[in-house]
Amino acid sequence: MSHADRWRIVPGVRPDLVAIDPAGTDGAPGNKSATGEETATLAERLADLQGRLWAESERSLLVVLQAMDAGGKDGTVKRVFRAMNPMGIQATSFKAPNDTELAHDFLWRIHAALPERGKVGIFNRSHYEDVLVVRVEELVPEPVWRPRYEAIRAFERMLTTEGTTVVKVFLHISREEQAERFRARLADPTKNWKFAAGDLDVRARWDDYRDAYADAMEQTSTATAPWFVVPADHKWYRNWAVSRILVDVLDAMDPRYPAPAEGLDRIVID
Ligand code: ATP
Ligand code: MG
Repeated sequence: MSHADRWRIVPGVRPDLVAIDPAGTDGAPGNKSATGEETATLAERLADLQGRLWAESERSLLVVLQAMDAGGKDGTVKRVFRAMNPMGIQATSFKAPNDTELAHDFLWRIHAALPERGKVGIFNRSHYEDVLVVRVEELVPEPVWRPRYEAIRAFERMLTTEGTTVVKVFLHISREEQAERFRARLADPTKNWKFAAGDLDVRARWDDYRDAYADAMEQTSTATAPWFVVPADHKWYRNWAVSRILVDVLDAMDPRYPAPAEGLDRIVID
């Protein structure tokens, strides 16, 4: 059993998001400061593993981050991925699709943003919005969004066999924690820009979004492209848990430095 199994959604099982405590700290090595120290140690391992993935240049890793508003997606990118070499990272955030994107299938813009071989791709929101916000806000009818679960499974299966490991993380915050973070966005002039009035309409449909998330995870957590539910009210726990998951996944990928070119050992530099 790997460390990350604690947060993994078993294929076909609907996660009970009401039963998973967003403030939970299960498995943490200690309090905030002790856990932060282990996160720093994990960061060194992440740097080494990413360096090897980059040098190998044969496979890639895609990390999908999803959460309710203010769930900590940006913070996770900032805190966890800064351990890695920016040259080997490709981060994309997905907003509401523009006209060109809407003129194509929902995976078109996703495909174009995938990490090339050797890179770690980060998706801040993703194709999952097309079975989340699109479903809850009824942007398309059910006969359109329902078949997307199967399309996503097939798409991610294809990515996996073509050399992209896919990992999906749901940052699980409580409604109360979201209220706190919204208040901070309103009170702090440096955070005002993060608040959109429409966020409150989405917040009002909290339970619908939670159900849509549970369905999406039940439908699309697979052995090769698993979902992880990370309690995220405590940022220090979230950072540690996501680091832990990434180290486990990259360790399993076991990227290798390429073999030296023939005759390298006979070259003399004078
Ligand atoms: P934060 O969590 O900090 O609020 P954010 O990810 O919400 O950041 P925003 O720029 O505030 O970033 O919002 C992006 C918006 O784009 C979200 O409301 C999301 O629902 C919407 N969006 C993303 N993909 C789609 C999609 N396929 N269809 C419709 N809306 C989408
Ligand atoms: Mg937002």
